[in-house]
Amino acid sequence: MKQNKNIKNQELVLPGTLIYEGNDLRTGKGTFKVGNKIYSSIVGVVKRNLKKKIIYVVPLKEPIVLKKDDIVLGEVISVSNSIAQVRIYFVFKDRKFTPLIEPFSGLVHISQLGRRVPVISDFIKVGDRILGKITVDFYPPYSLSLDSRLLGVVSAKCSICGASLIKKNRRLICPNCERVEQRIISEIYDTEKFDLLFDSLKVKREAGATGGEE
Ligand SMILES: [Zn+2]
Repeated sequence: MKQNKNIKNQELVLPGTLIYEGNDLRTGKGTFKVGNKIYSSIVGVVKRNLKKKIIYVVPLKEPIVLKKDDIVLGEVISVSNSIAQVRIYFVFKDRKFTPLIEPFSGLVHISQLGRRVPVISDFIKVGDRILGKITVDFYPPYSLSLDSRLLGVVSAKCSICGASLIKKNRRLICPNCERVEQRIISEIYDTEKFDLLFDSLKVKREAGATGGEE
């Protein structure tokens, strides 16, 4: 069985991309055949079902680029005095958080918090999950604003013991060591809900890495 060595399962392809060469697999949805070559007819992700001997392409539902005013969900990966660096994993679309195929990088500048603070690192910490709004149409890193009560940190952990912090009267309290921490908190702060969302992403990624449906 000869396969296009460049095309892996789950790989993103464009219309006209050669995805298989040979006679062992049939064409499924989103593909067409010329001779013994199968091509993608759409933008999507390649899948193979080896039991049914079929190759198909699942259309891409997730947006590839993010736009101004998109609400996105990400994780803080570094913080300096004036900038927090965020890895964006989800975009809020059709009333739900849709995972991006690949995470994008984002930045929150200290001027985008909706309140004046001396240093950003006192209000956003590495590992926080935050909801932000994209401020300009541009390429990554996307500039994010937290200037709305909806936006800000939606899940955070205690800097001392690592337990999930609980929101009480606009403050975050550790249920384990009773430490009180400050953040720019979103009004929909909910560690359970948002951590679950990130966990589901991890499960999906791991399944993808081991070959998915193959
Ligand atoms: Zn603690």
